[in-house]
Amino acid sequence: MNFNRAVIKVGSALVAPSKAGCSGQYTLAIAQFITKCRQQGKEIILVSSGGIAAGRSLIHHGSPKLSTPVKKAMASVGQMQMMANWQRFFDTPCSQILITQDDLEDRERFISIKETIQIQLENGILPIVNENDTVTTEDLKVGDNDNLAALVAQVCEADSLFILSDIDGVFTKDPHIHDDAVLLPKIDEITDEIYAMAGTSRNHLATGGMKTKIEAAEKATEHGINTYIVNGTKSEVFASLIREVNPGTRFSADKNIISAKKHWLKHTVKSQGRITLDSGAVNALLNKGASLLPIGIKSVAKNFDVGDCVDLIDQHTKIIIAKGITQYSNKELRRIKGKHSDEIEITLGHEEGAVVIHRDDMVILEQNIEVEPAKIAPKACKKIKSESNE
Ligand code: GLU
Repeated sequence: MNFNRAVIKVGSALVAPSKAGCSGQYTLAIAQFITKCRQQGKEIILVSSGGIAAGRSLIHHGSPKLSTPVKKAMASVGQMQMMANWQRFFDTPCSQILITQDDLEDRERFISIKETIQIQLENGILPIVNENDTVTTEDLKVGDNDNLAALVAQVCEADSLFILSDIDGVFTKDPHIHDDAVLLPKIDEITDEIYAMAGTSRNHLATGGMKTKIEAAEKATEHGINTYIVNGTKSEVFASLIREVNPGTRFSADKNIISAKKHWLKHTVKSQGRITLDSGAVNALLNKGASLLPIGIKSVAKNFDVGDCVDLIDQHTKIIIAKGITQYSNKELRRIKGKHSDEIEITLGHEEGAVVIHRDDMVILEQNIEVEPAKIAPKACKKIKSESNE
């Protein structure tokens, strides 16, 4: 494959296939592939799962269904084993980078991770990233390493993402059940149909499944990153990759790349609150490229501060049409909602600008998310789609 900087994501089933600690069964061939790529001058960042799987035999656990604290304890001890397993295949040093959703949401920490990886690559070090499972909470975790790998690819401005799993790629049907399932070599657009085809993983050690791989491909391709799902259990797959022949499914990078900031807003930051908009504001946002003014706000929900990300909701359809960074807190917005911008200062005693959310700090959502049961207005959805491609 023709690439200069790639993120390679390796799943638990490849790192600890026997469920009794790490093994070189598949990781040796993966490490040899990485070494060949690096010899050709390509830069590699590894996102490796397997902490929990590697630590599984080291922590007593009664039932096969593991509790979250037990998984965290396994992840912590297994991480060491997993790192040691990788390091033994490389003559050059590996580095360990453990991150959480929270780290990626914070712009300064995001840049800090990016700078660390950049310097390590310049020094011939192989960065190995995993989620910091011990410190994550339900709210603050990415949750699966497929999506984590897509975010890491964005952080380090990779041009390609390889998701190595124990399945050949995306099939038209579940190949474990249907003999006539056909591998899709190339996917140009990720549609609902593609998600429907994907089904779920049969491997209980993998937290991801095919759904999260397609989500990851969606995140990455939107950022201009070609994404491949390939079978990391087959050594011939690596020979094909070296010959630049696609052995799995390739998701082509989107031509309409959204800016790094909008991508970060859309995929990385979690919303703290909700602002419901009247139809005038919805129309201005979707069709006129406008910023959000206080006059268009009908109601405000949840507690949030200046600088937090909020969902913008259409009053009539109850659909989240956009996300953005607010210049005013929920308390301030409750006082200025429905007012003209020139009334902000007199109402609050101070003013942070005429707009509540500037257009540059806002991303229109292509896939509308329903807040509560409501009918989707097909016309509005179409408008939203064309807007997001701007
Ligand atoms: N962070 C988890 C681990 O190291 C893996 C999560 C995943 O595979 O998606 O076990």
